[in-house]
Amino acid sequence: MASVLLGIEGVTVAGAEEGPDGRLEVWAWVSCPVPCPKCGTFSGKVHEYVTTQPRDVRYGSREIKLYLGKRRLVCGNGDCPRGTFTEWVPQVPPRCKITRRLLGHCGDEVAGRGITPAESARHNGVSWPSAHGAFAAKADAVLGEELAPVAHLGVDEHRRGRARWRRDEETGEYTLLADRWHTCFYDLSGIQGMLGQVEGRTADDAAYWLAGATPAWRDAVQVVAIDMCTIYQSAVQKMLPGARIAVDLFHVVQLAVKTVADVRRRAIRELYGRRGKAGDPEYGIKHLLEKNLENLSGGQFGKVVETLDATGPGQHIALAWIGKEKLRHALNLRARVTGSVPCERQVRDRLFAFYDWCAQNEQVTELTTLARTISRWEDEIITAVLTGVTSARCESLNRIAKLEARHAYGFRNPGNQRRRVRTACTRGTRRKTSWPPSTVSRTVTMRQRAPG
Ligand SMILES: [Zn+2]
Repeated sequence: MASVLLGIEGVTVAGAEEGPDGRLEVWAWVSCPVPCPKCGTFSGKVHEYVTTQPRDVRYGSREIKLYLGKRRLVCGNGDCPRGTFTEWVPQVPPRCKITRRLLGHCGDEVAGRGITPAESARHNGVSWPSAHGAFAAKADAVLGEELAPVAHLGVDEHRRGRARWRRDEETGEYTLLADRWHTCFYDLSGIQGMLGQVEGRTADDAAYWLAGATPAWRDAVQVVAIDMCTIYQSAVQKMLPGARIAVDLFHVVQLAVKTVADVRRRAIRELYGRRGKAGDPEYGIKHLLEKNLENLSGGQFGKVVETLDATGPGQHIALAWIGKEKLRHALNLRARVTGSVPCERQVRDRLFAFYDWCAQNEQVTELTTLARTISRWEDEIITAVLTGVTSARCESLNRIAKLEARHAYGFRNPGNQRRRVRTACTRGTRRKTSWPPSTVSRTVTMRQRAPG
């Protein structure tokens, strides 16, 4: 019964007792016959008895101190060059001091629960290389699989570590020593999470990863979502000529909101000769200007209009604010807001109204700059409105990637970072793929019950 409870195949428990340190001491021996590894002959001639202490998983919350007795046997085959050999079981292969199930547990903890190898090693009483090796073996098997086709691809970047600067002793100027980035590729239409990661954030870095994919996979990509970043635009145009590019609309609106804030700061400086502070009416409505027009209450809208009407420089803020809302008016044609897919003509008309507004009010130079940027990205914006593809999932997975680096207190090894981040960003995928078996069995049970 004790052997069944211990659950190591080929091992029989001889006794168990509580040790002086409170740990459960289990005495066991290898009970299945093992042939000579060289010639395959079974032998019963004992050379000596040895006791090993392989580390094993906990028994409930208690640590186990396992004493495993083995026999060193003399090979009976006279022609065999091997003199003696020691017994072993699959859970503890020759020369191993950790049971396979403990290593498997360490790997599962890091890959599945998202704790660090250091934490897993500490809890399970193994070294960091052992825990990390177990995790790497588990992760590489999954990450090495070929990618499924992706209809909507996301490309984004995040910083690796922090930027390093050096101060020049004589001039006092700072020079940038290292500023490392990771470019990441995401599956926006499926459940594959993060597809891959390369170091650097140049067009060549992104193109390098795309070049590694199969031509069939590249052809399957229909839309690529990016930030307003010309680097990734050129990489995608070069490597995925068949795919359309969509810029993330959040970043477009963010740019418009930033423009309004720039105009507000300039207007306040012109009016008071200093930066804004609490008590200034224009400063008081700064958060209202950031909100969407439809989300303002009647009172809030009245407050904004009253404040901007009162002063001359306030007019500029009002013009920029209206410009922002005109741009949003075009973006609001997307199916997520209206419930139906718009036609391209409609979007272009509304964008034209926005350009027209900016041209009529060219005294607000910030509006002209905004209109120029928007017109440069017009096709990509229209693709985003028509297809509804956003890079929201890129941002959410980026957050996980950064969290992983924080959990690890930074990474020294870029390869380890890539593996850990990719594992963390595909965890949802693996959880979903492990679901079907249990769902199937549940359906069967319900069907059986139905007739009764
Ligand atoms: Zn032999």
